[in-house]
Amino acid sequence: CVSQSQDFDFFYFVQQWPGSYCDTKQSCCYPNTGKPTADFGIHGLWPNYEDGSYPSNCDPNNSFNQAKISDLLSNMQKNWPSLACPSSNSIQFWTHEWEKHGTCSESILSQHGYFDTALTLKGKTNLLKALTSAGINPDGNSYSLVNIKNAIKGAIGYTPWIECNVDASGNSQLYQIYLCVDNSGSDLIECPVFPKGKCGSEIEFPSF
Ligand code: 5GP
Ligand code: 5GP
Ligand code: 5GP
Repeated sequence: CVSQSQDFDFFYFVQQWPGSYCDTKQSCCYPNTGKPTADFGIHGLWPNYEDGSYPSNCDPNNSFNQAKISDLLSNMQKNWPSLACPSSNSIQFWTHEWEKHGTCSESILSQHGYFDTALTLKGKTNLLKALTSAGINPDGNSYSLVNIKNAIKGAIGYTPWIECNVDASGNSQLYQIYLCVDNSGSDLIECPVFPKGKCGSEIEFPSF
């Protein structure tokens, strides 16, 4: 349903591992620009309330406008690629994220500011480096959830939330990593509330 609220408490900054999006039953399609780099990609920057609920689709009059982010497009293609099928230039993914989530922070961030903020946060949080520095590599092996969380906390300073999905054989794997950001989009914070959902205690980290 459409929320009128412009206010929210914090953002979830959500990054996805492309290998885990692609090795599911549903599979994936590379964007027209080619296979993305083997790195975490941005899924979204999502306004949220401290009680765990969240506003969505806050302003039908503020639709996505590519012209407003023309200077960011090459950076977006690199760091925010869509892996959904059919192959696309990722614009539909960004449109969805702006209209569902971005419009709910429009009193704080313009459309350009919203995408720019997400790209800046991605640059500040090198999740792949945090993991590989701790010996946790995208090699198809399984790693302990606790070790994954500690590696990120150690490198970035904040406790992440890990969302798992299952591969085509039903194994639990590292799909998305949530970090929390203050409601100006400037700084990472400890999450006021964590999402829900189960992982195994050992989860696969597939290659891409
Ligand atoms: P799923 O049901 O697959 O977990 O999530 C579907 C979509 O709902 C997400 O991609 C996101 O747009 C939204 N969503 C799910 N959980 C949360 C949440 O905790 N906070 C916010 N802001 N959005 C969420
Ligand atoms: P959310 O789950 O944030 O509401 O939105 C995810 C939507 O974006 C879904 O409709 C999904 O099909 C689409 N989408 C397009 N590309 C991607 C992608 O690379 N990853 C994910 N998780 N969703 C994508
Ligand atoms: P604790 O708060 O004791 O670390 O964990 C409580 C429960 O939440 C345990 O079942 C644990 O496996 C689960 N859990 C802890 N951290 C995460 C996480 O980042 N993602 C998911 N999906 N479950 C977690």
